[in-house]
Amino acid sequence: MGNDLFFESWGRFPKVSHLGMFAPQCVDKINDLIQSSDSLILPRGLGRSYGDSCLNEDGYLLSTKWLNKFYAFDENTGILKCEAGVTLDEILQTFVPRGWFLPVTPGTKFVTVGGAIANDIHGKNHHTAGTFGNQVIRFELLRSDGTRLLCSRETNPDWFKTTIGGLGLTGVITWAELPLKPIKGPYIEMESIKFNNLNEFFSISRESATDYKYIVSWLDCINSADIRGIFMRGNHSNTTETDASKISHSVSSWKTFPVDAPSFLLSAATVKLFNMLYYHKQIKKHEKKIVHYDPFFYPLDGINHWNRMYGNRGFLQWQGVVPFTEENEAIRTILSEIIKSGLSSFLVVLKEFGSIPPCGMLSFPMPGITLAVDFPNVGGRLFSLFDRLDKVVINSGGRLYPAKDARMAPETFQSSYPDFENFKKYIDPRFSSSFYRRIRGENNG
Ligand SMILES: Cc1cc2nc3c(=O)[nH]c(=O)nc-3n(C[C@H](O)[C@H](O)[C@H](O)COP(=O)(O)OP(=O)(O)OC[C@H]3O[C@@H](n4cnc5c(N)ncnc54)[C@H](O)[C@@H]3O)c2cc1C
Repeated sequence: MGNDLFFESWGRFPKVSHLGMFAPQCVDKINDLIQSSDSLILPRGLGRSYGDSCLNEDGYLLSTKWLNKFYAFDENTGILKCEAGVTLDEILQTFVPRGWFLPVTPGTKFVTVGGAIANDIHGKNHHTAGTFGNQVIRFELLRSDGTRLLCSRETNPDWFKTTIGGLGLTGVITWAELPLKPIKGPYIEMESIKFNNLNEFFSISRESATDYKYIVSWLDCINSADIRGIFMRGNHSNTTETDASKISHSVSSWKTFPVDAPSFLLSAATVKLFNMLYYHKQIKKHEKKIVHYDPFFYPLDGINHWNRMYGNRGFLQWQGVVPFTEENEAIRTILSEIIKSGLSSFLVVLKEFGSIPPCGMLSFPMPGITLAVDFPNVGGRLFSLFDRLDKVVINSGGRLYPAKDARMAPETFQSSYPDFENFKKYIDPRFSSSFYRRIRGENNG
C-alpha cells in the first residue's frame, strides 16, 4: 500500500488523491484491513467506471485484484461460482472454448464480476435478458462488522436488491454465482444496417427486438441535419472453429495507445472526418457477416488504454435513459441539443432497453431509449451542455447512469432515483465514495 495516491477512473476525470489502496490476498484478510484503516473505504474492480463512482477521495480503495479464483463450475447447468475480482475476460478465456458464454456483457470485457453487480451493468441483450443483476443467482456480502451475508432472491432479499446496483456502498461482494449460457462456438452472425433518420432507427430496432438477441447502434450526429448511423444486430452462430476458415477473427490485435494524444486529434474537424469515414466504411445499406465475438462485443478493447486518446484532461461520458413516448420527443431534443452545441463526439451509442425490470434498488436501466456519448473534457461549454441534457432526462421521467457520471447535481440523482432514501439505511458505515458524497449533496464524511 502506498501513500497520497492519485487514482483515476476510466474517463480520467476527476483525478483525486487517496490515502492508499488495499489489495487483500484473500477474503479472510479483508476484515482486518477494514478494521485497521483510519478512513472510509470503497471496493474497486478494474476502475472501468467513467466518473467518480469507483473513486474515494481522501479515503482508501480496496482492490479485488487478488480475489480472482474460480470456485466451481457445473457442466450440466452452466452455473459458475467465482470470486468477485474475476474479470469477464477471464471467464470468456476459460469457458468459451468449453462452449459457454456470459449471460450479459457490457462493451468491455475488462470489468470484474463485483463491479458488474455493483453497477448492475447492461449489455446489447438488455431487451432479451435484462441486466447482469437479473442473472445473478446469489453472492456473499461482507460487511465491515465482520458479518458475511449470503444474498439471493430468497435469502436476505433486501441486501440482494440493495447490493445489485449498490455502487459498492453496502459492503464487499466476495463471490458470486451466475449462469453461463451454452454456445456452439465463438462466432456471431452479425448484420449491420445503415439508417438515415431516427424514425428509420426505431423501425429497425422494433423489427429486430424479437429475432435478434443483441442490438446496438452507432450514430453520426454531427455530419447530417438528421441523425444517421449504423444499426448492428446479431445472434450466436452455430458455426464452429472447424468450419470457420473464412471468418473475420481479429482477437489478438492488441495495440496500446502510447501517450496522451495531441489536441488536434480531438478537433471538430478530425471527429467529423472520423464519423464520415466510419459511416461510409460500409458501402451497402445492409451487410451480413460472421464475426468472432470479440470485435462484435468489445470493439474498443482492441486498443489498450484508448482513454489516453483524450489527453491528460480526460473525457466525460454522458449516458441517460428516457421512457418511450409516442413521438419520442425527449431523445430527439437531446440529440438536437448535442448537434446545436457544436461539440463533437467519436462515440454516440443508441439502444432501446427492454421491459424486464432490474432487481437492484438503484439500477439504471428502465424501459426506454438510452444514449451514451463521449466528449473530451473541454470544461464549461461541455458541463453546461450536460446540464441541459440532464433537464430533458429529468422532465421526461428518465435517469442518468452513475457508472458513467462525474458531475450530475445531487437533485438530479435524488429526483430520478426515488428509492435513494431507503437505500441509505443499507450503506456500510465504513464505506463511501466520491460519487456518493457528491450526489448526497455534501462534500465530506
Ligand atoms: C469501454 C467501456 C464500455 C462500457 N460499456 C458498458 C455497457 O455497455 N454497459 C454498462 O452497463 N456499462 C458499461 N461500461 C461501464 C462498466 O461496465 C462499469 O463501470 C463496470 O461496473 C466497471 O467494472 P469494474 O470491475 O471496473 O468496477 P469499478 O469501476 O472499479 O467499480 C464499479 C463499482 O463497483 C463497486 N465494486 C467493485 N467491486 C466490488 C465488490 N467486490 N464488492 C462491492 N462493490 C464493488 C465499486 O465500488 C464501484 O462502485 C463500460 C465501460 C467501458 C470502459
